[in-house]
Amino acid sequence: MNIADIDSHCHDRGAKLLTLSLEEYSGYEPVEGQTLMVGLHPWDTTERDMYEAFDILSGAITDPRVVAMGEVGIDPLHGAPVERQEQLLRYQLRVAADARMPVMFHIVRRFDILLKLHKEFSPVAAWAVHGFRSKPEVAQELADAGIYMSVGPKFNADAVRVIPRNLLLLETDELPEEEIRNVIAAVADARGMRNGALADLARDNLRRYLMSGQKSV
Ligand SMILES: [Zn+2]
Repeated sequence: MNIADIDSHCHDRGAKLLTLSLEEYSGYEPVEGQTLMVGLHPWDTTERDMYEAFDILSGAITDPRVVAMGEVGIDPLHGAPVERQEQLLRYQLRVAADARMPVMFHIVRRFDILLKLHKEFSPVAAWAVHGFRSKPEVAQELADAGIYMSVGPKFNADAVRVIPRNLLLLETDELPEEEIRNVIAAVADARGMRNGALADLARDNLRRYLMSGQKSV
């Protein structure tokens, strides 16, 4: 099975599509052929100088290796108060909308804020939630909004069965990219698909997600 170009969210430095925090991004020398996803993580919303952070971000979006913004989002359990997180998120979503960049979200509990922002922005480029492990009801709401769901090693099998074929992404997150094999096997099992068929589907979906905005800068 070909596992290339499937992993939508990976922090392993060797990953083909690598997710970096803004701090990690400044001064990072990418590996040949590597593409990047960069954004202010909700956990990093307290201690940082935001002028500096957004200065790095505005440089990053003009970098041809940066193909999407992420991970950004809302996490009530870490970082600044939710109101402040939402404010910082809105700023980044405006930047992403201007650049027509797809966005990858880290959302804990507050899917209501995500759905509200999605209505408000009605983005041209696609949005995706990474590490999706919520309930089937949430999967249905995101599906109705056309938001992609990226599934990793931990997930709710009933919810994974609800995700429409064209909105399903796969990821390893903190694990090495090779671990995507195990994610493919587990999700294929939950959906009653063959591994190879799921791998092809997830690859096509990731390509479509990344191309969705035709990044304009
Ligand atoms: Zn992550």
